[in-house]
Amino acid sequence: MKTSISLSPTIIVIFGGTGDLNLRKLAPALYNLYVEGFMPEKFAIIGTARRPLTNEKFRDTLMDGVNSFSRTGKVNKEKWEKFSENVHYNPTDVKDSASFDELKVVVDKFKDEFGAGTQILFYLAVSPDLFPPIAKRLAKFKMAENEDNCRIVVEKPFGKDLETARELNALLKERFKEKQIYRIDHYLGKETVQNIMAFRFANSFLEPLWNRNYIDHIQISVTEQLGVGERGGYYEGSGALRDMIQNHLLQLLCIIGMETPINFNADEIRDKKVDVLKAMRPFSAEDIRFNTVRGQYTKGWVEGKEVPGYRHENGVDPDSNTETFAAIKFFVDNWRWQGVPFYVRTGKRLFQTSSLITIQFKDVPHHIFPPAVTEHWQQNRLIISIQPEMSIRLQVQGKRPGLDMVLNPVDMVFDYKGTYTTQSPEAYETLLLDVMTGDQTQFMRADQVETAWELLMPVIHAWETKKSLSFPNYSADSWGPEDAEALIARDGFHWFALPLNKD
Ligand code: NAP
Repeated sequence: MKTSISLSPTIIVIFGGTGDLNLRKLAPALYNLYVEGFMPEKFAIIGTARRPLTNEKFRDTLMDGVNSFSRTGKVNKEKWEKFSENVHYNPTDVKDSASFDELKVVVDKFKDEFGAGTQILFYLAVSPDLFPPIAKRLAKFKMAENEDNCRIVVEKPFGKDLETARELNALLKERFKEKQIYRIDHYLGKETVQNIMAFRFANSFLEPLWNRNYIDHIQISVTEQLGVGERGGYYEGSGALRDMIQNHLLQLLCIIGMETPINFNADEIRDKKVDVLKAMRPFSAEDIRFNTVRGQYTKGWVEGKEVPGYRHENGVDPDSNTETFAAIKFFVDNWRWQGVPFYVRTGKRLFQTSSLITIQFKDVPHHIFPPAVTEHWQQNRLIISIQPEMSIRLQVQGKRPGLDMVLNPVDMVFDYKGTYTTQSPEAYETLLLDVMTGDQTQFMRADQVETAWELLMPVIHAWETKKSLSFPNYSADSWGPEDAEALIARDGFHWFALPLNKD
């Protein structure tokens, strides 16, 4: 989170320069940072990938990406011209040392031109099997030796289980210092997610209530209307647990569950988050049976169009055991949260695309109103909507206007759209700026990643070794398998959703 910026000259090397992530997210983010005056005065963006491209062709490809995906719409021609003068392309096969040697010459040329203090960022926007060869060659060619000025950004997924995450951490830590490694979880860069920290720790009224004495249960729900699309091949080796819960949803849970940090330093905040993960109740075989639910979508209709079931998507095994939905009841065993269930669910091809955190408070200790008055009685809820609506709602009981005494729930709403006129930056803008300023607060430390994997390994193991006999078990456009409703209904609750926004 920045207040004022003065950046040293910066070279950004993007491995996977021609890939989807760069076109869709990184290039628009860098361009918007430039337009808003947040790029360093001197910078060079060097895209790399195997295919041969001229600088001009690469710039045109990125411009198409920005035009299609930037939150600010199509590029301003003049600004794009100026920005793109700093964009270059160097064909590099990261498995081939000779082409890495050539890349080093290009990077060194800019380093000499920019002078002392130049920062070099290496962004690994490639498939995870290429993380090790890139890290090894960056070390072999001594391209990231300066631990104060050279940083390595590693995309998700960080490992596919505890063992592979440990291996990758070991490989990186053998060659670089932890302060050079930026493990990205783009959820942490979202404006609304960052605002949870502000909401929790910059307001005094909340802290006394933020514990087991006043909170009944917590829900974290990240649902998607889309299916796997063309990513079936990738998703087959992943699934909802690995793709979403191990990283994004557990990180949200940490922000909700963490103790108050003593300051805003990266390590202090990450220490407090790791404490939550360490306090989470490990899964016994019985917990896995009763507190976890997996699902896989079958065909259905979405907005009037028939969509295929998961097993009929491209690249998917027709007998696949991969879950496209997961719901889990977690507990955090510490003084603050003892006995408070954290229900987490995520899935594809669900009824609504939405990311929502709902904190339900306990009921009043004694009802003074007669039953007829409280027909629509509902416990207080704090609802943090991350997307598509960006808002924080406090649901309270109020008296309906009129001569009779009727109570119903009303929302006190902090809505971004209504409150601010400025557009929120994209998560990648925030995170790229953080990397340039050397702020690791919103990035995952090695122990965060490993502790999250450690927690989930028993579930992953159980789901992999015991094939689901009920798959596919929910239809596209539903809220997921019935068992997920039962998981929360058993405790007397139901999954909360905001009504669809008709805007
Ligand atoms: P992608 O579209 O398949 O792009 C892969 C890139 O790697 C291409 O530029 C490809 O270009 C390059 N490449 C492949 N082999 C190479 C080699 N041997 N040497 C050098 N370059 C090579 O993948 P992506 O969707 O951009 O995803 C990249 C990473 O970001 C993945 O880890 C993914 O999980 C993560 N991620 C992506 C998104 C997204 O929205 N796409 C979101 C979150 C995270 P050439 O074929 O020309 O070499």
